[in-house]
Amino acid sequence: MSINEKKKALPPEKVRLAYDRVRQYRDSGGKPVACPLCEEMALKIIDQSARPYVEWYHLTCEACGLEATLNIPLGRPSSAN
Ligand SMILES: [Zn+2]
Repeated sequence: MSINEKKKALPPEKVRLAYDRVRQYRDSGGKPVACPLCEEMALKIIDQSARPYVEWYHLTCEACGLEATLNIPLGRPSSAN
């Protein structure tokens, strides 16, 4: 265990933004997106989804040390526009 671990958790107020970034990443077909924390284009998103049940994304940022996991439950009806 190290006290000097550079990793940062996702603050609650940034969770929504992080979901937006993941959606952006999916919609763009895997193009780089900005980190929800420091806005650098250094965000790495690893798809760890267990389809068809849930989508899991592991987010790491090389610039600020963000490390977070987001899950998106599948099977929800999409809202009509
Ligand atoms: Zn960052």
